[in-house]
Amino acid sequence: MRPTGLPVTAVREEIAAALAEDVPWSRVLNSICTEPHPVAVEAARAAAHTNLGDVRIFRGTKRVERKVVSLLLELLGRPQGAGSLVSGGTEANLLAVLAARGDALRTGRLSDRPEVVVGSTVHFSFDKIFAALGVTPVRVPVDDGLRLAPESVEKALTEHTLAVVATAGSSELGVVDRVDDIAAVLEPHGVWLHVDAATGGFVIPFARELGLPLPRFDFSVDGVRSITIDPHKYGLANVPAGAVLFRDQEARQADSFFHGTPAHTTFLGTRPGSAAVAVYAVLEHLGREGFVAITRTNYENTRHLTDRLAEAGYGLIIRPELNIVVVRVPNAVEVSDLLDTRGWIVSTSKRFEDAVRIVVTRHVTRDVIEEFVPALIRADHDIRAGVAER
Ligand SMILES: *Cc1c(COP(=O)(O)O)cnc(C)c1O
Repeated sequence: MRPTGLPVTAVREEIAAALAEDVPWSRVLNSICTEPHPVAVEAARAAAHTNLGDVRIFRGTKRVERKVVSLLLELLGRPQGAGSLVSGGTEANLLAVLAARGDALRTGRLSDRPEVVVGSTVHFSFDKIFAALGVTPVRVPVDDGLRLAPESVEKALTEHTLAVVATAGSSELGVVDRVDDIAAVLEPHGVWLHVDAATGGFVIPFARELGLPLPRFDFSVDGVRSITIDPHKYGLANVPAGAVLFRDQEARQADSFFHGTPAHTTFLGTRPGSAAVAVYAVLEHLGREGFVAITRTNYENTRHLTDRLAEAGYGLIIRPELNIVVVRVPNAVEVSDLLDTRGWIVSTSKRFEDAVRIVVTRHVTRDVIEEFVPALIRADHDIRAGVAER
């Protein structure tokens, strides 16, 4: 630390210089997060001093958090459910697995070697969670549509099965598992079904309202016990804002893991009220209508992107269900690296060689796409020329 401090103006300049090194949103095509809505930024700033780890002090902020949880439960078809705002999808998924464990313990079904059944498209946050909790993942194959196959799930069930995780919008491919089919398979076994809708939770309800043929994934499906949803992704709120929702109070049971601190139902202790306030501001400001309009634009832009890619001769790996486009590009890793040096950030696929993944969200406008597609074509061309030379 400096022996004497810097004037505020100098600190401000240093920070501005650091932030200027970040890639501008208009060049970010790999991230499910987006520039937060201005209403969220303003609200988060107003609540920058708040701490939801101490609800004796931050009573009004706590009230806002409860309101947000109710709004999310209503969105997911279970107004009478329970839930908490958390730091993101990772913490939400952790709390869901903990709750499943609490439930198994309470009902005398907890194995000493608990297993959780997941598909190969499950989010990597579960790797961390299973390692931390000593749970064995049982990975089952996905079907031709890259969805968790209900028959494979059924075959994978054992006396040690603690839970099954379905994904409503994989971050990798935007594929929505058929939650109702999986729930039907689990019903006779009474196994906990968790739905990871971190990516799709703020897309699918509005896309369905627009008439898109997406399946039900929420508490309207009997057997869904918990859901993860991430307001800091398609919910347009500031980081860190995730949520875990439970079908009912008993399903939650987080309390049994947090002895002595009944006010704490999340993993973090001291935690930002600014996140809760920011989510609330966006939900209130946009309403259903606002989210439907944004969703419509995202789908229009996704369509525009896939049309432009098709015109340029690029084929898709899979027809996008959400707003994630995975396109075949030869030498994808080299193309991605070259795009990076030219200021564009895309990702590549671990599953498919020679595929570039592009996420369309609020900042990926038609204009951005109009600039990006020629940049991709150029990078592809330059890499092919280089490869031919070698
Ligand atoms: C982003 C994401 C997560 C993890 O959420 P964080 O907010 O990054 O902790 C988990 N599952 C899915 C499907 C995701 O898209």
